[in-house]
Amino acid sequence: MSAIPTTPSDAVPQAPGALHDASDARRVLADQVELLYRQAPIGIGGALLVASLIVYELYAPHSRELVIFWACIALLVAASRFMLVRAYSRDAAREPDPERWLRWFSIGALAEGVSWGFAAAVFFPSISDEQRVFLAFVLATMTAGGLPLFSAVWWVFALFAFGVIVPFEAVLFTYGTRLFSELALMIPILLTINVAVAYRLNQVFVSGFRLRQSYGRLTQDYTTLNLQLEQRLAELEEAGRQVETSGRKLALFAERSPIPIFEFDWNGVVLTANPAAENLFGYSVAEMIGKKGTDFLFPVEVHADVLAKWSGFMRAGKPVVALRYHNVRRDGVELVCEWSITPLVSPANRVQSVIVQGRDITQQLEAERMKQEFTSTLSHELRTPLTSILGSLQLINSGVFGELGNDVAELAQVAERNGQRLLDLINDLLDIERIESGKLTLFSEPLALRTLLQEAVNLNKAFAERFNVRLELSADLPDVRVNADVKRILQVMTNLISNAAKFSPAGGAVTIELHDLGGEVRVAVNDRGTGIPENFRNRIFARFAQADATDTRQKGGTGLGLAICKRLIEMMGGRIGFADRQGGGTMFFFELPKYRAD
Ligand code: ADP
Repeated sequence: MSAIPTTPSDAVPQAPGALHDASDARRVLADQVELLYRQAPIGIGGALLVASLIVYELYAPHSRELVIFWACIALLVAASRFMLVRAYSRDAAREPDPERWLRWFSIGALAEGVSWGFAAAVFFPSISDEQRVFLAFVLATMTAGGLPLFSAVWWVFALFAFGVIVPFEAVLFTYGTRLFSELALMIPILLTINVAVAYRLNQVFVSGFRLRQSYGRLTQDYTTLNLQLEQRLAELEEAGRQVETSGRKLALFAERSPIPIFEFDWNGVVLTANPAAENLFGYSVAEMIGKKGTDFLFPVEVHADVLAKWSGFMRAGKPVVALRYHNVRRDGVELVCEWSITPLVSPANRVQSVIVQGRDITQQLEAERMKQEFTSTLSHELRTPLTSILGSLQLINSGVFGELGNDVAELAQVAERNGQRLLDLINDLLDIERIESGKLTLFSEPLALRTLLQEAVNLNKAFAERFNVRLELSADLPDVRVNADVKRILQVMTNLISNAAKFSPAGGAVTIELHDLGGEVRVAVNDRGTGIPENFRNRIFARFAQADATDTRQKGGTGLGLAICKRLIEMMGGRIGFADRQGGGTMFFFELPKYRAD
């Protein structure tokens, strides 16, 4: 089998004369052997016929035994050769080994030749001259007859012919008259010519076989190529169908999408747009196609900026998301849109077209602005009167205006506590709103943390005592400094310490530690409370997150404290986290980069 060609050039057939490789030579030999065996029955049949003629002609009472003996030999050789042919045909279906079968055939051919040569040797001395002429004629006929039958492999013919001629020559020289001796001289010439002819014929056969092999291979290659071609065509058709389907799907998505989608060329000229784009900007698709995006989608003052950014994106050939721009509708109304740009890049890295999606966020921005304005106005409006109410209550509770009756004193204290909670909530709300709108400014300076932690403990001692909890500052605090806003660090510490106190068991202690980590410092607040529930851990730093909704009532707090701490610490370049404390409870910590004078 020839190798299956992978490219059309592999399939180019070799010229008949170029069959050099061993497997081709073997295939040619197999063809030669096959021809020898195919023709063998004709030879065997002919030989039997001629042998019968000899027996008929030479049979006489005085030579009876000799004739029978020779006839037996001729029969034996014919039968053996016939069995060999049968065995070969049985083996033929299983790709027979040509060399082995050729060896056996050549032995058969030699035996055949020798049996005829032997006829000359045994009969020649005892027969009449007429019969001798007959015999010589028969042997010449047999030799000539072997030529087409054996010359598919020339040396097989040569073996056969030598088998016939050598004993015959010997007899001719020994017993013949002058005429026979002259005949004997001519026979080698005849033999040489015959072998030469056999050799020529052999070459013709071989080149015929080679041609056949090449043709076979060519047909095979052609069939394989055809099959591959059919397969590729089927694959291409399938790919074409898939592309068409996904193209239809995409077109449907774009058509139904509530988000405006444009396809621009490299220069920013509209190639196509979807109905949502028509609705938002007020132009029909036909009007937009062929126009430059900057000419009708953006207000004039941003044109230069948009064009410069556009060429940058085209050079980079990378997608860009969340680009906010002021846009303008056909009726002149301004919008704010968030754009995402996806260049379609060819394998050769060329931008073929650009898919641009724009989301109208005008109303969303307006709603956010109004919400912030509302929160901040409400908080300010509440804070001012609340501060004065609290101030008054504190004065009353301090006893400046004389002793209060028990009931009144208790009510006044409840009013002050709840007023303080309300103020805390408003302050937290204001803080988070200021942080999220980017209005909070930090005043950073180098701070000695040791002193700062001491101050935090002093500030929160009274609060902790309300829960019967001790605050302990670990003994050997390293002398490290950070660049941070003192007010905000104290706010974070107050939050962490008050949480630790609130969630500690009565009579417990909260330990505050300070560690020098090399490049950073870590402040840790450890409590011996119940720990953070597993299902709450990933929400703990979110706004208004509380593990248990009853916390607000029982322990106070808003669920905003940790959210504010996280944002403040991150604004100062640090990180905040918590871990289970060994022996029970929780460790809340924050890390900040260490301050170095250089
Ligand atoms: P709050 O003002 O309610 O304390 P925080 O954001 O500071 O709000 O805390 C959110 C929630 O996290 C708390 O309500 C509590 O459920 C949990 N929490 C915070 N600190 C601790 C702590 N040290 N031990 C156990 N739970 C805590």
